[in-house]
Amino acid sequence: MDGVPKTNYGLLLDNKLKELDKSGERPTLLLHACCAPCSSHTLTVLDKYFRITLYFCNPNIAPEEEYIFRMNELKRLVREMALDIPIIEEKYDPVPFYELAKGLEELPERGERCQKCIAYRLRKAGAKAKELEFDMFTTTLTISPHKDCAFINECGGQIQDECGVPYLFSDFKKHDGYKHSIELSKQYNLYRQNYCGCIYSKKSD
Ligand code: SF4
Repeated sequence: MDGVPKTNYGLLLDNKLKELDKSGERPTLLLHACCAPCSSHTLTVLDKYFRITLYFCNPNIAPEEEYIFRMNELKRLVREMALDIPIIEEKYDPVPFYELAKGLEELPERGERCQKCIAYRLRKAGAKAKELEFDMFTTTLTISPHKDCAFINECGGQIQDECGVPYLFSDFKKHDGYKHSIELSKQYNLYRQNYCGCIYSKKSD
């Protein structure tokens, strides 16, 4: 809306990291990961400040072989980056995604289907963070130039109020984050998928 200043989520993250640096604290963080390329830069930013656990929960991805491949690439990345980071893997179950996408199949990316898809995954991450008593939770999704960063953060803020676990606001594109993720993808020879994840995004390629 005109005249309403936009929240600078990149700055919010910078400020949070500075605060942690000053305090010397290293809280636990449940980091929802959509894929290895998006996780690469994000991990280089956060690993110093948080005790991270990755959370692979993406029922939107189709077909199952693609889901398994993206998850295995994430595991390989963590191994090759020599990071001591556990990964919680959700079993492949696309039913909730097809339920939420009903009637929205034909919408373009960034529309209502994508909002519901993102909200579903963030809500799962918030619930898991609460269940396992993490200090904070967040997602790698804000690194994507194809996604609505403000929506992702607003949604995270709403879910933190619901689940009681603080959400780490972010815009991982800042400081050339997206460019860095492409460089790291080359360095680690990561699979960079050419569609977002669901069959509808695959069809629109
Ligand atoms: S295009 Fe991506 S964000 Fe949108 S519904 Fe499909 S998988 Fe989810």
